[in-house]
Parts: sequence; structure tokens; C-alpha cells
Amino acid sequence: MRMRASIVISRLLLGTLLSLNGIALAQSKSSASEKEVPNLPPGLDKRFLDTSADPCADFFQYACGNFSKYYPIPNDRPGYSAGAVLYDHNEYILHTMLEKAAAPGADRTPNQQKIGDYYAACMDSAAIDQKGLRPFQPELDRIAAIKDKKELTALLAHFQLINVNALLGVGEQQDFKDATKQIAAADQGGLGLPERDYYFRTGDAAEKTRQQYVQHITNTLKLLGESDSDAASDAKKIFELETALAKVSMDVTSRRQPQNVYHMMAVGDLQKLTPGLDWPQLLADADFPSVSEINVANPDFFRGLNPLLEATDLKTIKAYLRWQLVASTDSVALPKALDEEMFDFNGRKLHGQPEMQARWKRCVQATDRALGEALGQVYVAQEFPASSKAATLQMVHDIESAMDQDLDNLGWMSPETRARAKAKLHAIADKIGYPDHWRDYSKLAVQRGDAYGNAERAIVFENLREIVKIGKPVDRGEWGMSPPTVDAYYNPSMNDINFPAGILQSPFFDAKASDATNYGDIGGVVGHELTHGFDDQGRQFDGNGNLSDWWTPEDGKKFEEKADCTVKEYGNFSAVDDVKINGKLTLGENTADNGGLRLAFIALLADAKRKNIDLNQKQDGYTPVQQFFLGHAQGWCGNTRPEQIRLQVQTDPHSPRKFRVNGVVQNMPEFGEAFGCKTGQPMMPVNACRVW
Ligand SMILES: [Zn+2]
Repeated sequence: MRMRASIVISRLLLGTLLSLNGIALAQSKSSASEKEVPNLPPGLDKRFLDTSADPCADFFQYACGNFSKYYPIPNDRPGYSAGAVLYDHNEYILHTMLEKAAAPGADRTPNQQKIGDYYAACMDSAAIDQKGLRPFQPELDRIAAIKDKKELTALLAHFQLINVNALLGVGEQQDFKDATKQIAAADQGGLGLPERDYYFRTGDAAEKTRQQYVQHITNTLKLLGESDSDAASDAKKIFELETALAKVSMDVTSRRQPQNVYHMMAVGDLQKLTPGLDWPQLLADADFPSVSEINVANPDFFRGLNPLLEATDLKTIKAYLRWQLVASTDSVALPKALDEEMFDFNGRKLHGQPEMQARWKRCVQATDRALGEALGQVYVAQEFPASSKAATLQMVHDIESAMDQDLDNLGWMSPETRARAKAKLHAIADKIGYPDHWRDYSKLAVQRGDAYGNAERAIVFENLREIVKIGKPVDRGEWGMSPPTVDAYYNPSMNDINFPAGILQSPFFDAKASDATNYGDIGGVVGHELTHGFDDQGRQFDGNGNLSDWWTPEDGKKFEEKADCTVKEYGNFSAVDDVKINGKLTLGENTADNGGLRLAFIALLADAKRKNIDLNQKQDGYTPVQQFFLGHAQGWCGNTRPEQIRLQVQTDPHSPRKFRVNGVVQNMPEFGEAFGCKTGQPMMPVNACRVW
């Protein structure tokens, strides 16, 4: 249902800290809760430097080469990083808050009651195991009761409301072409592997993943009570059905183009694409208000879905629905055997993660997903001082002034386009820390001893909150991330940059570090989000958040040429084994990384001028310019398991961390100058790229 995020929001980190999509991450052995809250790494930590490496040959190695000596990858992680240390720090704090809120008899506020009971129910694995499959039974009965394909419509509508990824997706989004409107949308869906190309990619690794996936479906169906032979034959047919769905689905790279996922049409025309479903009934049963038009993100998918529905027998469709019902459930609420089966494929096989995370960690994450602003409200009051908000706001204003200045100095842009770019820049809303108005959860029922019910009610609550927006004015104060989140985002329809309180801490922002370090670090993060407004995707939206071409044709062409340099440059980086980075998929993020650090550098120069600081005078071993680049690099220190890198390269628009450092510094001659590199060395190539 949450379609907006999948279509347009550009994040800083998606998928780099945690496994994607709420997969199974835990099983508690020891009580890690008794440990101390982990210390945050400083903005610049000399212990991480590998001074035996040549910064001009591989700056990531120089800045982060010794990180893993202090922070090896824990067994319950697909990777570990400086950002993950901050994430862990936050998680311990949230955990303490939740333990307190969960204590029986405590004098609790209504929000504390909800987060405390949600967490307590999630932690009650004995109750979850004792109930076994019973919480699923009403859903399994609904599937079993279907006698005719005509009855699928009502079931799919219900499954949409409880986030079962069956065949398709419907939801709400801001209208790309009129950002004041909130509209209904229908999108492709129904795949169990991470992305459509997983069904077709050739090679041993891809083939092995598909075999493991079919085995995983088989195991899951057996745990639902099917015989060995039925489970195996159903799994094969389910995989065939998903492969056919994948065939008519759009790949993740094509989906980055807003025009590719925007096709407004009358509901009657959608009905003609997929006559096998009753669309007005599906929308009404999923509690949509009456709409005449809908954005059909991928019409080819809905055209292709119809013959598929006709050709697939009802028995297979019902087996597929049972499979997706379980696969779509947050496995922390599943009985142990199913939970472990989900982890084995999603965690171990796809991400290379040897062990599940402790249950308390998974329950902190589940509570954040379900009640993020209730948890966030308590978190912000305790952890986010007004001084952090003020310091961040100052940094944001510095970076925005830097962009203003950068636009004045861009030789290739015509005055016409420049004026419109400035208008867009000046219209960007800066959102820092937490929302001005907190979400009201009073109508969401949370009960101890009912983990599955709580999770389902929270999903329905959130989906109805989204759907009810259709046809209403846009609330520009709304946030798409909870306050404790260690991440940031730009939303082109809102034209806003958002920095949750969770990320506004060390190593990204370190009050004890030098100004230069912080400009390289949090300054680079702010610049990154700001540049998203002007990357290959963001530049297609204007200052009001509307998809409209405000570029002169010549300037648009020049932008494309410059962007093409970045596509080729990153497309040549080898991520793991024979897998190269997808230059087109990562273009927006790479543009934001490069433009962002350049803006931060311009802001650093302005700050030094104001304060009369000599940026080339060594302080504590490094000049401020060197500290700037080191601070930036160390925000990305970390190591990632090969399975995770492979998954990331195939699904995630962000480049692996090493290239978020090396790819950027090699495009900035200021880096080479600061570290005395010679032209032609890897970090100072002759053919550097620059968009912004
Ligand atoms: Zn980004």
C-alpha cells in the first residue's frame, strides 16, 4: 500500500543498515539488553585510518581500512558500518524506553501504553508459539472458501488492506502532475523475490537463488500443513506464476523514471485492461473513496495480468495466496518454525547473515514500524535537544546558500534555467528532527498477548490513514520516516528535505569534532538530499512538486551528457566478483553524493572565510580540508558481506559504501590537491565527471 515511497522518495541509506522489508532478523539467545548503550564513534576517528594505504590510490581504504578491527561484522548483520553503530546506539535507547513503557502497573501515558504493550506482545514468543497457526486461520479460511475466480476480487481487496503482496498493489500517492492532489494508484506486485530480474538473470548465483527460493516456498507450505508432494508441486506452480507476473513487471531501473510509472486513466479503462477483476468493487472493498480516475503505474502489468488469471487454475492461485499471506507477514509475529524458515531464506541466503537478531531488537524495530511517531515522541523529548535542531538548521541554511552560489557559477546553464532552478531551491521546505504535529494513534487497539493481531491492526490503521487522504488537501507537514530513524530523504512531490532526529548525531554530526569534519559529514548528508531535488529524477519536478519540464532543451541536453559521464563512470566499478554497479539505477544517488559533497565544500569555504580560518594549516595532524574529506569518508566506514553487496547492486539505487567515498573524491580536484595526488592516480583521474 505504501506506494509513494516505492515510486519517488529518495533516501540516503535504504538497505545499507538493515535488511530490507522487515525480514526475519532475530532469535534471542543471550540478553544483550543487559549490555551498556554502545558509544557513538566520533566524527573523525584516527583508529580507523590505514596510514599504510595511499590515499591517492584508494581513499576509502586509507580512511576506513582499520574500521573492522574495532567493529567486525556481527553475526546478526549483513554488514556493519559507522552508521550501524549509531543505529545500535539508538536501538538500545529505544529498548530502554520500551522496557520501561512495558512494565506492568506503570503510570503510563496513552502513547506509552500503546508502545509498551505492542513491544510486550511482540516479546511474548511463548504466546505466539502457543497460538501457532490459529491467528492465520480466518485468512486461510477465506482463501479456502473461494469457489470461483470471480470471488478473487473481494479477497484481493481485503489482502491489500492487510499488506499481503498478492498479485498487485493499490494505494494513495500525490499526483505527479498536480502536487496539491492526492490520488488513488494501482501498481504491479505479487513477487516473492526482491526484484523482477531475479526471475530471469542468468548465471550460477542467480540459478542457485531460484532453486533455494522454490525450496523455501515448499518448506513454508509444509509448515502450513501440506503434504511433502503437494507442497513441492504447489511451490513449482507458484514459482511459475510469479515468473509470469515478473515477465509483465517493470524493472527497478525503469521505475526510477517518473513518466514510466504515471498513467492516469479512468477506472473504466483499468477495468478494460484486467476484465477478470472487478475494479470498482476492489477499490470499494479496500475502503477507497469513490474515484473516477486512478494512476495505473504500469498498464502493461495489468494488461498482462488478465490472461495470466485466465490461464492459471484456481488451485494454484489459492496455493499462491496462502504462500503470499505468510511471506508478507512480519515474521517476528510468526510461530518459531515459520519464523526460522523465513529467516533462513531472507536473512541467511539473500543477505548472507549467519544469525537472526535478538528478539528484543526485532521487537524494537517492529514497534517503530507500527507506532513510529508514538515512539518518536518519547524519543525526541529524551534525546533531541533544541541545540541539535538549531545547529542542523544552520547547516541546512549554509548548504542552501552554497547551492545558490553554485548555480551562479555554473557556466553551462542558461540564465533562464538558472532562474527556475533557483526558484525551486528557494521553495524547498526544510524539515528537521520531528514533525510539528504528531500522529494520533488513539483509534488503534493494542493488546498484550496478541502480537499478530496488533501487527495486522497497525497495518490496517496505517493503510486507512493513507487511503482517506484521497481527494483531500495535502498535509505538507507530514513525515515519511519516524524520528528515531538513522536516515534522511528528499520527496520531489513535497519538494522537502527531511532529517530525522536519529541521524543528527555522531558520527554524522559531532559537536566535539572540528567544523571541517562536520561540513564533510552532516554537511555532505544535507547536500545529498538537497541535490536530489536536481538529480536526473528530481530535476523533472518543479518547485511546487509538479512533474513539469522547466529546463530549456539545450540545458536539458547538457544535463543528460553530464549525467551520462556519471552513468559510465560508476558502471565500471566492480562491486563484488563479476558484478558491476548499475550506473543507471544508481545515477540519482551518485549525483546526490557528488553534488552534495561539493555543496558542503563550498559551504566550508564560506564558513572559513567568515571565521578567518586557514584551511591549509594543519591542526591535529590534518588540514581542515583533509579533515573535511576524512570526516565524509568516515561517515561511510564499514564492511558488507558479499551476498548483501550482490543483493544491493541488483535492487538498491545506492552504490556500495566504498564507491560513495572513492567515486565522489575522484571527481573533486580539491581532494587531490589536499592530499598531494598526481593527475592520473586513481583518486585524481583525467576524465572526472561533474553534474553539479
Ligand atoms: Zn539519496
